[in-house]
Amino acid sequence: MLEALLGHRPPVLPPGHVWLVGAGPGDPGQLTLDAVAAIAQAEALVHDDLVDPRILALAPESATRLFMGKRGGRPSARQADIIAALIREARLGRRVVRLKGGDPFVFGRGAEEALALADAGIPCRIVPGLTAGLAGLAAAGIPATQRGVNQAVVLATGHAAAGAEDALDWAALARLGQPLVLYMAMRRLPEVAAALLRGGLPPGTPAAAVAEATTPRQRKVVSTLGNIVDAVRRAGLAAPAIVVIGGVVATAAALAQRPMADSPGQPGGPEAGLG
Ligand code: SAH
Repeated sequence: MLEALLGHRPPVLPPGHVWLVGAGPGDPGQLTLDAVAAIAQAEALVHDDLVDPRILALAPESATRLFMGKRGGRPSARQADIIAALIREARLGRRVVRLKGGDPFVFGRGAEEALALADAGIPCRIVPGLTAGLAGLAAAGIPATQRGVNQAVVLATGHAAAGAEDALDWAALARLGQPLVLYMAMRRLPEVAAALLRGGLPPGTPAAAVAEATTPRQRKVVSTLGNIVDAVRRAGLAAPAIVVIGGVVATAAALAQRPMADSPGQPGGPEAGLG
């Protein structure tokens, strides 16, 4: 109906092709029209554990469903097995949808899968999705950029803490003085916060964590860099969550205090105050 209104022709998923589809940050309302069209055509649906069951239910009942989750700290499918499954299903001539949380090309290993499919001679298409680090912030009332506050925003993985093989230069990021949006940061948050403080970022820098953004279970904790680890622990916030450190967090708090502002997409949940 909406598609007719927009004059939008949903893309057609041919047999033997694999589409890497972004499912958005969680809420089904954040799916794109192309994502919905892709899922509805799936004969094989390969998905993560971040994908809402209502989204999975958009696939035909007859579709083969392969759950191949990947989540830090839990036993998960090996990337090689996921790629092997995609190739196998495509070679069976199925229309394959590889459904991923957020955007497939933002910390989603979509690039690895696309390269492997290309090497195997299997046609592949990327269907973008709303990434948690941007849409999730907006849903929690935190602007990714604000004129006069920041000129850039860094999307980083919190996995890359000091000591990790792919460790980031946190001191350089601290010196950059631009907001940091951290994916997968809950487990290593103490190390990351300490590294940023050592790098010279003031302890009073506003910081927030948003868990299960855009869903009815969304929760936000607002604090400072110096206190974010404690605040997250006290609130019992768990993954999946986005951590954001920088002046834009203060904007969110200011927004929430205006009587006119309908606190955007904050379906309940406790919020710790600044400090
Ligand atoms: N491709 C995804 C990211 C996958 S990495 C994207 O573009 O969003 C997984 C991480 O994404 C989680 O550890 C968490 O940091 C973040 N994430 C995904 N969904 C989220 C949500 N609904 N709320 C908060 N963080 C989320």
